[in-house]
Amino acid sequence: MLFDTHVHLNVSHFDEDREEVLKRAKEAGVEYMVIVGFDHETIPKAIKMAEQYDHIYAAVGWHPIDAIDMTEKELVWLEELADHPKVVALGEMGLDYHWDKSPKDVQKAVFRKQIQLAKKVQLPIIIHNREATEDIIGVLQEEHAEEVGGIMHCYNDSVDYVDTCLDMGFYISLGGPVTFKNATLPKEVAKYVPMDRLLIETDCPFLAPHPNRGKRNEPAYVRLVAEQIADLRGVSYEKLSEQTTENAKRFFGIEV
Ligand SMILES: [Zn+2]
Ligand SMILES: [Zn+2]
Repeated sequence: MLFDTHVHLNVSHFDEDREEVLKRAKEAGVEYMVIVGFDHETIPKAIKMAEQYDHIYAAVGWHPIDAIDMTEKELVWLEELADHPKVVALGEMGLDYHWDKSPKDVQKAVFRKQIQLAKKVQLPIIIHNREATEDIIGVLQEEHAEEVGGIMHCYNDSVDYVDTCLDMGFYISLGGPVTFKNATLPKEVAKYVPMDRLLIETDCPFLAPHPNRGKRNEPAYVRLVAEQIADLRGVSYEKLSEQTTENAKRFFGIEV
């Protein structure tokens, strides 16, 4: 049993074979997934798929790369969607300093507004971080994000920041990079995070795990992430998959 906590089956990469991708996920043991919407196009698609399938849930937020496009209108829209029974988190939101479409101060302002909204609607948040860990932590602390909790999605920084995230009640989610041969940081993190605060994800169609690196990623491959982490921690695959699934269900408030 696996829970892929971060997927983008709502993008065009899956338009040709979405049903087959879902079938392969089932066969690989993926029992739950959260589809993350991040803009005008992907948010309605995430909601639609969550309505269509019992085992699929949705998260809605505004991506930091496009922060400059978010107005009051989008914020009101997110607030309305937060009421939807299958929406289990707000995000992804955060800071992305790799791309410069949105200036840093705009990204920070949009990030803050979404944290404030999460506190208002009482939903946890999913954090996207690229080259911005210290600023992310600063904003989370200033906005008291610990009141709702969240996920550091596809965590890719060193172990040094993990305790601060855990202290805020956050979970650490690892994806494909933990399987890359040269990726030392995620491997260290995989061993360090307490078992009850660890999550797994694909972030598909991006970041496919070894040996599919460079190809289109899909939820079935979350199994490779789980196998690698189990191996690093010296626990069985069954134990690791069971515990991460339980963590995700607790985090998203999903009962069965
Ligand atoms: Zn992301
Ligand atoms: Zn994502």
